[in-house]
Amino acid sequence: MKRLDNKISLVTSSTRGIGLEIAKKLGGNGSKVYLAVRRLDAGKKIADEIIANGGNADIVYFDASKPDTYKTMIEEVINKEKRLDVLVNNYGGTNVKADFDVVTGNTEDFFRIVQDNLQSVYLPCKEVIPHMIRNGGGSIINISTIGSVIPDLSRVAYVVSKAAINSLTQNIAVQYAKQGVRCNAILPGLIATDAAMDNMSEEFIKGFLRHVPLNRVGKPEDIANAVVFYASDESSFITGDLIEVAGGFGLPTPLYGDSITK
Ligand code: NAP
Repeated sequence: MKRLDNKISLVTSSTRGIGLEIAKKLGGNGSKVYLAVRRLDAGKKIADEIIANGGNADIVYFDASKPDTYKTMIEEVINKEKRLDVLVNNYGGTNVKADFDVVTGNTEDFFRIVQDNLQSVYLPCKEVIPHMIRNGGGSIINISTIGSVIPDLSRVAYVVSKAAINSLTQNIAVQYAKQGVRCNAILPGLIATDAAMDNMSEEFIKGFLRHVPLNRVGKPEDIANAVVFYASDESSFITGDLIEVAGGFGLPTPLYGDSITK
């Protein structure tokens, strides 16, 4: 018996990085996993790999720049499976060339980024929750960021949108708990994916790690392991959690980094 046997799950943006690892772990733990992706050929290859490793997987079309596809990706799974037990809203990000501080940043860019990220949770939740309720419940897991709880000097649209996702997570948790729908968010720290590594210098990463008590960059598996827990019935009494998977970043005294000598 595997931890996610008989569960149908969907992960948005699962061709690379954190989403890819989440899809693999869900598939490896017994769930039939749908990869919701814009590059269907890449998604199909990954689904085939999951199947070759003894799991079960399929693909559905999703492109965040076409908001209708949040609805159609859920509909497609419901039509095929009649249920969706686990929804992982992994899509999200920002444009580091446009997302600055409040004064420097462009107003239109700010609201575009906030909308893009916030609707990536709001729209699929609106679509899936009635099906989960009809089916006796389900688990929604939103990928936020540690930055959503620690104000920063830049990327204001990104962190504000993720803070809104935290609030949406807890509102959904309260609004549908009685009908068996759980909703939790994972707040990753610095994780080694293209999104993070392409935008950060080695020097920045070195300085950043001085403030990470566990003293390493996270791996996509670190996030995927937490997702499996929140997807499984092992977490059946947990909802509205904003769980930090960040190596302890933000936990110590602000003077902590200064005390590291190595
Ligand atoms: P990533 O490695 O850059 O992967 C991005 C994924 O998003 C790819 O699968 C990509 O698909 C997909 N994607 C991009 N634009 C899309 C669109 N318009 N429609 C559909 N899919 C699209 O990103 P990541 O680092 O894994 O980030 C995943 C989540 O973790 C995000 O919500 C991010 O905010 C959060 N997070 C990451 C970190 C970190 O340090 N990495 C930290 C905190 C939070 P293609 O392959 O087709 O391009």
